[in-house]
Amino acid sequence: MKKLHIVSNRLPFSISYQNDEPSLEPSVGGLATGMNSVYKDFNGKWIGWPGIASDTKTKQELQSVETLLAKEGCESVHLTECEVEEFYEGFCNNTIWPLFHYFAQYVDFHSEFWEAYVAVNQKFADKVLEVVEDDDYVWVHDYQLMLVPEMIKSQRPNITIGYFLHIPFPSYEVFRILPWRKELLKGLLGADLIGFHTYDYERHFLSSVRRLFGYEITFNEIHIDDRIILADAFPMGIDFDKFADAARQIHQTPLKERSEVHKELEKYFLMDPDRKLVLSIDRLDYSKGIPNRLRAFGKFLENHPEYHGKVTLILLSVPSRNNVIHYQRLKSEVEELVGSINGLYGNINYTPVWYFYRSMPFNNLVELYSMSDVALITPVRDGMNLVAKEYVASRINQTGVMVLSEMAGVVKEMGEAIVINPNDEDETERAILQALEMTPEEQASRMLTMQKRLKRYDVFKWAKDFVGALQRVNRIQKDFL
Ligand code: UDP
Repeated sequence: MKKLHIVSNRLPFSISYQNDEPSLEPSVGGLATGMNSVYKDFNGKWIGWPGIASDTKTKQELQSVETLLAKEGCESVHLTECEVEEFYEGFCNNTIWPLFHYFAQYVDFHSEFWEAYVAVNQKFADKVLEVVEDDDYVWVHDYQLMLVPEMIKSQRPNITIGYFLHIPFPSYEVFRILPWRKELLKGLLGADLIGFHTYDYERHFLSSVRRLFGYEITFNEIHIDDRIILADAFPMGIDFDKFADAARQIHQTPLKERSEVHKELEKYFLMDPDRKLVLSIDRLDYSKGIPNRLRAFGKFLENHPEYHGKVTLILLSVPSRNNVIHYQRLKSEVEELVGSINGLYGNINYTPVWYFYRSMPFNNLVELYSMSDVALITPVRDGMNLVAKEYVASRINQTGVMVLSEMAGVVKEMGEAIVINPNDEDETERAILQALEMTPEEQASRMLTMQKRLKRYDVFKWAKDFVGALQRVNRIQKDFL
């Protein structure tokens, strides 16, 4: 059987040390969940960076980490501190990330960052070439590794390569801003199958290929001499049952055994059972539209005094990239807005915004999902937004309303949400009211439809579909020849 290998920037483990002894902690993120089933079934390896700068450890220490990871089927690509800074923090997070999320004014165009990106992508490709055999499948993930497909293909054309982009692919007019636009596209075109979350991203990509290279494109097939490359949309799902089961478990847990978070939330409802909770969870990232959301919530309180004391916004902001100036400024802006709303509308018994700047463990997240009446998800740009899907999966009694930005990839699968333009604070404010006043029957009807859809296309189905398409691409290419 042909093997299938996964390549991603980070390996699906984090490494911690106790008395200088390393140990592995498996990641629980969506990608790790989906891919674990794939690479093990196909007897492949997972190739990636273990998450520690190689020049901060001795050779022996690195060796012991490598050995631990190898037992899990992982192959390590080592990056130095400087590479992490220029490749990951530099080109990935300060060039590609803002550009692909339409924040052109935040983009750094440093050629040293670009050179580091090329060099690190080459390191990943070299590792793949060392580990993978001819005729195997390789699935490369995300914006950190856009050059890897071509770097593999040019050396070993018999390896079938899939690539999936987890962030938006921007419109050509935005993509063309990048000095290295052709190089990035050429890198991607080394793949045989290129996947996106939505059909819009796929179209933007195909349009950039047509305009920059003039290749012939028929539907979703790109023809380059005697090669065919397929582009397609595969909206990434979640482990639906994991969230639904955890929510069920929480509901069945006796009162005194519940977590502190749960007990605090119950106290809130005990004071007045008609009280409502609105939930907002994201990394503190400028693409997530957190200030817009807070301003809309402030307006809502301004225009609806009858809701003072009755509705609280839980704002969970997960620290992210806080060495970058734009993220530091965003944090100050968010904290100022929270302070001003609480100052204006709060009193001894009522805090309108509960702000948490931290990450929460899985169980607490599900508690928040299952106890909040409304999820307010308003990114100004988001490749997918898994939080939206996790909220829906956790609503086991089919109550709850989703207010969702039309700029999130997930909106394509959630037509039953109240869809808003995140730049329209008046519309968002009206949506908050509509959500709070929606009848339980309407909530249930919308929620059930979304749940059925998300359960059917979960992360396992997503991975299976992509791999199936990768296997079929070979046949299409052979028929063409
Ligand atoms: N998440 C988490 N801990 C937290 C808050 C969020 O593990 O305290 C997870 C959440 O369950 C979700 C992911 O972080 O799976 C966020 O994914 P999403 O697609 O919404 O946004 P991203 O951060 O990838 O842009």
